[in-house]
Amino acid sequence: MQMSNKILDGRRVAEDIRSQVARRTQALRDRGIVPCLATILVGEDPASVTYVRMKGNACKRLGLESQRIQMPETTSTEALIATIEELNADESVHGILLQHPVPSQVNERAAFDAIRLDKDVDGVTTLGFGRAAFDLPSFRSCTPKAIVSIIDYYELPIEGKHAVVIGRSPILGKPVALMLLNRNATVTICHSRTRALPEIVRRADILVVAVGRPRFVQGDWLKPGVVILDAGYNEGNVGDVDFESCHPISSAITPVPGGVGPVTIATLLMQTVEAAEQKASE
Ligand code: NAP
Repeated sequence: MQMSNKILDGRRVAEDIRSQVARRTQALRDRGIVPCLATILVGEDPASVTYVRMKGNACKRLGLESQRIQMPETTSTEALIATIEELNADESVHGILLQHPVPSQVNERAAFDAIRLDKDVDGVTTLGFGRAAFDLPSFRSCTPKAIVSIIDYYELPIEGKHAVVIGRSPILGKPVALMLLNRNATVTICHSRTRALPEIVRRADILVVAVGRPRFVQGDWLKPGVVILDAGYNEGNVGDVDFESCHPISSAITPVPGGVGPVTIATLLMQTVEAAEQKASE
C-alpha cells in the first residue's frame, strides 16, 4: 500500500477492517448467529460514556448486536464479577468489554480476570496477555493490535527495526512492546522513571507513544525517517505527539484524530466476530 503524504490514515485501515467485519457478520447471520458484544460501564465518567456509545453504534452499523450494562458508581468488585459471570454463561453473548477505568473501590484486575478467555475480545485478561507474550492464539489487546495492523497495512517493516515504546500500561505499552518483539523488532520500553528519554527516542526507527500527555514528544527528539504511532488521545483531540514538529522529521505518522483510535474500535468488532465464529465452529 502506498503512503500518501506520510500520513498513516487510520480511517482507511479501519474501513478495510470494517468491510471484513460486515461480510463475516452477514455470513454468521445467514447461519442464524448474531455476533453480540456486551459492554459494562461502571459509573458515568463522560469520556467512558462516549466510548461505550461509540462502540455500541459501531456494532449496530455493521450488523452486530450490542448489550449495554450500566452499573452504579458505588458498585463493588463482587457485584461486578457476578455480572461478568452472568455474561460468561450467556450463550448469546460472544464478547465482553469492561470499560476502563473503573471506580477506585473496584479491584480492576480481578474484574478483568473474571472475563472468560474466549469472550475476552478486548484482550484484558492476565491469561490473554500471557498467551500474547508467548505469541499463542488469544484475542489481543485492541489498541496494540490496531497499531500493528496500521504498520502492516502500509507494509512498513518491523523485523530488525529498533522500536521504542513510551508507556508500559497493561493494555497498551506492555502488550504492544511484546507484539513488536514477537515480530522481531528490537524493543526498548520507556516509562516515567526513564532517564534521558529524548536520547533513547532518538534511536527509534519505530516510535509508539502511549503516555497520556498532550503533545509530549517533540520533533527535536527524533531520528529523521522514524515511523510514529501515536496512541494518545487527550482533551481537545490532541495526541501524545507534537504533530507539528514531528511530522516533518518522520517518514510516516498517525494523526490524532483519525489514526490509532478508529482502528482500535474496528479491531474490537473484528475480535467479537472472531469469537462468534469460534463458538459457531465448536
Ligand atoms: P496510562 O495507564 O496512564 O499509562 C501511561 C504510561 O505513560 C505509564 O506507563 C507511565 O509510566 C508513562 N508515562 C507517564 N509520564 C511519563 C513521562 N513523563 N515520561 C515517560 N513515560 C511516562 O495510560 P494508557 O491507558 O496506556 O494510555 C496512554 C494514552 O493512550 C492516553 O492518551 C490514552 O488516552 C490513550 N489511549 C488510546 C486508545 C485508543 O484507542 N486510541 C486506547 C487506550 C488509551 P509509569 O508506568 O512509570 O507510571
